[in-house]
Amino acid sequence: MASGGHPDSPRPQAGARDESHVAASARPAWHADSVAQACQQLQVDAQQLAAGLAQDEARQRLQQYGPNRLAPPKRRSAWLRFVLQFHNILLYVMMVAALVTALLGHWVDTGVLLAAVLVNAIIGFIQEGKAEAALDAIRGMLSLQAMVVRDGQRQVIDAEALVPGDLVLLASGDRVPADLRLVAVTELRVEEAALTGESLPVEKQTEAVPADASLGDRSDMAFSGTLVVYGQARGLVVGTGSQTELGHINTMLSNVDVATTPLLRQINGFGHKLALVILVMAVLTFVLGTWLRGIPATEMFLMVVALVASAIPEGLPAIMTVTLALGVQRMARRKAIVRRLPAVEALGAVTVICSDKTGTLTRNEMTVQRVVCADARYVVEGAGYAPEGRFRLGETRVDPADAASAPVLAQAIRAGVLCNDARMRLLDDGQWQVDGDPTEGALLVLGSKAEAVGMQQADARTTHVAQEVPFSQDALAECWPRVDVIPFESEHRFMATLHHAVPAGVGEGAPHWICVKGAPEVILDFCATQLTAQGPAPLDVDYWRRMATDLAAQGLRVLALAGKPGGAAGAKLTHADVRQGCTLLALVGIVDPPRGEAVVAVRECHDAGIRVKMITGDHAETARAIGAQLGIGVGKPALTGAEVALLDNAALRRTAGEIDVFARASPEQKLRLVQALQDNGQVVAMTGDGVNDAPALKRADVGVAMGLKGTEAAKEAGDIVLADDNFATIAHAVEEGRAVYDNLRKFILFMLPTNGGEALIVIAAILFQLTLPLTAAQVLWINMVTSSALGLALAFEKAEPGIMDRPPRPPGQPLLDGLAVWRIVLISMTMMAGALGLFLWELQHGVSVEVARTMAVNSVVLAEMFYLLNSRHITDSVLSREGLLGNPYVLLSIAACVPLQLAFTYWPVMQTLMGSAALDGLQWLKVLAAGSLVFFVAELDKLAWRRAKTVEGGETAGR
Ligand code: ATP
Repeated sequence: MASGGHPDSPRPQAGARDESHVAASARPAWHADSVAQACQQLQVDAQQLAAGLAQDEARQRLQQYGPNRLAPPKRRSAWLRFVLQFHNILLYVMMVAALVTALLGHWVDTGVLLAAVLVNAIIGFIQEGKAEAALDAIRGMLSLQAMVVRDGQRQVIDAEALVPGDLVLLASGDRVPADLRLVAVTELRVEEAALTGESLPVEKQTEAVPADASLGDRSDMAFSGTLVVYGQARGLVVGTGSQTELGHINTMLSNVDVATTPLLRQINGFGHKLALVILVMAVLTFVLGTWLRGIPATEMFLMVVALVASAIPEGLPAIMTVTLALGVQRMARRKAIVRRLPAVEALGAVTVICSDKTGTLTRNEMTVQRVVCADARYVVEGAGYAPEGRFRLGETRVDPADAASAPVLAQAIRAGVLCNDARMRLLDDGQWQVDGDPTEGALLVLGSKAEAVGMQQADARTTHVAQEVPFSQDALAECWPRVDVIPFESEHRFMATLHHAVPAGVGEGAPHWICVKGAPEVILDFCATQLTAQGPAPLDVDYWRRMATDLAAQGLRVLALAGKPGGAAGAKLTHADVRQGCTLLALVGIVDPPRGEAVVAVRECHDAGIRVKMITGDHAETARAIGAQLGIGVGKPALTGAEVALLDNAALRRTAGEIDVFARASPEQKLRLVQALQDNGQVVAMTGDGVNDAPALKRADVGVAMGLKGTEAAKEAGDIVLADDNFATIAHAVEEGRAVYDNLRKFILFMLPTNGGEALIVIAAILFQLTLPLTAAQVLWINMVTSSALGLALAFEKAEPGIMDRPPRPPGQPLLDGLAVWRIVLISMTMMAGALGLFLWELQHGVSVEVARTMAVNSVVLAEMFYLLNSRHITDSVLSREGLLGNPYVLLSIAACVPLQLAFTYWPVMQTLMGSAALDGLQWLKVLAAGSLVFFVAELDKLAWRRAKTVEGGETAGR
C-alpha cells in the first residue's frame, strides 16, 4: 500500500457525503488489505488491535467521523401531510356539496361545509402526528447495540457510538453494526441478503481477497446491516454511517411498520363502502323528492347534503389509528415494544402463549448449588453473584484447592472458569455483575468462591498456596491462555476451549488442554473416562445419568464439565477433537429460581382462558420441576425434543394441545409446535431469542422477541420485543391488546349510531314530507362539534377491570357482530325518536320552526353526550361512580361541548348563521328528557344482554 496513506481511508462524514455517488470501485477496498495494512490506515497499533481503542480516542474519533447512523428517510413535510388530509373520499363529497351550495348562493351552508372539511382535516392532521410520534418513540427504543472492546474491556454500547478503528465482537444472531475488516473468526457465517439479495449465509475468513472481488465475495469483511447466523468474530470498524456499503446503497432498515393493520384496512374499506351506499341513497332520495314529490331541486339538494353529511362517519379512520397508537404507547410503557401493528389486534385474541424458560419465566440469576464428581457430591453455599460461600461435603467444609479432601473438584471448577466467555464485575455499589451468559457467570462465581476459600486457608497457614492454585479467571487465563474456541450454540449444546499452558503455570506436562462444558447427555457421549481421586477411570454412564436426573428433578439446570489433552501447537479446535476421548470431571447443578411475577402472570393467563406452555432447551426434569413451581403442566409429563421428532404432524397436533412442558426442544421443533397449535385453531404467541428462532417467531400469530438476551435476528422476526424479557410483560401486552380491541369496538359502537340517528332523522323527514328537523348546516354543526371530538375520548379508555377474567375473543370474530349491529340499530332509532318526536311535538304546540330545530339539535347533541357515557362499557353497566366519572377525557370532552351548545343557542351571530333560537328552562328540560332517553335505553339493553348471558351460562353449566 502506498505510504502516503490509504486513498480510501475513512474520512470525516462531511467530506464523505459527497462521495456517495462515486462508483463502487472508487470506494475503500479494505477487503484487499491485510489486517496489518488495515490497522495502519485506521491508525490502530498492535495494542489497540488487542485491547481496542481508549475511550478518549474513541470520543475524539466520534467527533471527527460523526455518529454511525444513516440519514433518516425523508419525511413528508407538515404541509404536504396537511394537504393530504383532504385526500379522502368523504371530504371530497363534502367539498363538492360546498361548491354546489355556493353556486346556489347558500353561503351559510357553504361556510359550514367548508368549516367541517377544515376541522376534519385539522383533527386528522393532529391525530396522524400523534400516531407518528408514538411510533417514532418506539423506533428509538429498538436501537441497535454493539459489543466492542475499549480500554481492554468488553462492553455493550449503542451502535451509533461506533467509530472507525473500534474493535467489535460478533456472535451468532447479531446484526453487524458497521462495516468491519475481520481480524479473527470462528466458523463465522453471515447472511448478507440486506446487501446482496443472497439469502444463503456466506462463510467468512480473515485473509485479504482481490481488490476487484464483488461485495458477495469479500469474505474478509462483515458489512453493516447483515446478519451473523453462526459463529463468532472480531473485526475492526472501517466504515460507519453513510460510509458503509449499506450507507452507499442507502436502504434504511425499517424497524416499525406503517400505521395500519388488517382491522384498520377493513374499517377503511368499510368506510368507503358506506360512503358509496350513502351517496347512492342520497341520489335516490333526491330523485324521489324532486320527481315524485315535486319538491324544488334546490331545497331537495340541501336536504340531501344534510343527509350525506349526517350519515358519513368522517372521523372513523383517524380515530381508529389514534386508538391503536395510544395502545402501542401504553404497551411500550409496560415494556412491550410493538414492531408490527397488527400484533396489537392479534394479542387480544391470543389463546396460547409458548414461552421460553430461562430468563423469561425464571430470573436468570444463576448460582451453582451442587457439584457432583465421580466419588463425591459437594454442596456450594451462597446465593447470587457475590463470591461468598463455602463448599461442603456432607457437613464437612472443603477447600477445593486441597487435593487431599477434594481431589477432582479443583479441576472441574477450573474447567468451568476456563471454558467461559462471561466476565464478573464489581459495581460501584458493591454488587457483583456478570457480563455475558448467566450460566457461565455462575461458573465464574464458583471459581471466585473457591479462590476465596483458598485465600482464607492460605492466610491461616501463612503460605502462598492460593497463588499456586488459582481459580480466578484472570489468573487462570495467564497460566492457560485460550488458543481457540467452539462457541456455545443451542443446536449442539456444548462449548469447548483450547488452552496452551504457559510453562511456568499450573499443569505442566500437557502443553494443550481442551475444556468442554455442556448438556450432560451431550458431554457423556464425548467421554470415555471419568476423573477420580486415583486418576482417570472408565466412565460409569449409569451413575452420571442418575445424578443428572436427580439434580434436574430438583429444578436445577445441569451442566457437565469435561477435559482432555489437546492437539499440537498452533492447531485449531474442531468438533472432531472434542467429540471423543474426553474425561468427565463433574456435573454442576445450577439454581435459577422462577420469577415471582411470572407465577402471578401465569395464573392471570389461566384465568383469562389462555394456555401457557413452556418450551425450553433445558433438561426435561428441570423443566418439569420449574414448570410445577410456576403452575405450568402440573401433574403432566414433559415431552422432549427427541419425542417430538418421532411424532407425525397429526400426532403432534393432538399432543401439542395436551402437553404444556416441552424440553430439549430445538428451534425447528418450536416451528412445528406453532404450526400444530395453529392447526388446532389456536392463536399462538411464541417467544424466542436465538437466530434460529426467527422462523417460529415469524410463523406465530404474535412473535415475541427478547429485548435483553435476544439476538437482533430474533428481534427483527418478532412482532413485539420485550424490553425486560419478562413473561409477565407478555401477559400485560395481552391485556393491553384486549383493551385496544375493546376501545376500537367501543368507538365504532359510539360513532355509527350517532351518525345513524342523524341520518334517520333526515330520511324520515324526507319520506314523510315533514319539515326538516335539522338543516344541513345544523347537521354539519352536530358532526363537527360532537362526533369526532366526543368519540376521541374513548381512545383513552383503560382496560376494563375484568378484562383478564374473560375468555379470548374467538379468532375471526367480526368487529360488527350481532350485538353491535343490534346496538347500532337500537340507538339510531332511539335518537331519531327522541329528536324527531320532540321536534314534531313542539311544532304541533305552536313553537316556531327555529326553536323546534334548536331543541332537536340540542337533544341530538345531548343524546350523544349521554351515549358517550354508555359507550365506556360495551356490556357492563356504567351506573356507578367509576362508570360515570372514571374517564376524565370523557368528562372533559362533554364539558367542552356545553359552551359550544350554549353559543349555538344564545349567541346572536350563531342564531343568524345557524337559524337557531334561544330556549327557556322548560324547553331545556324537554331537551334533557329527549336526550337522556338514549342513556336509559342503552343501559336497559346491556342489562337484558347480561341477563341473557347469565341464563345461557347457567344452562351450559347445567348441561
Ligand atoms: P430456554 O429455551 O428456556 O431459554 P435454555 O436457555 O435452557 O432454555 P439453551 O440455552 O439452549 O436453553 O441450553 C440448553 C442446554 O445447554 C442447557 O440445559 C445446558 O445444559 C447447556 N448450556 C446452556 N448454556 C451453556 C453454555 N454457555 N455452555 C455450555 N452449555 C450450555
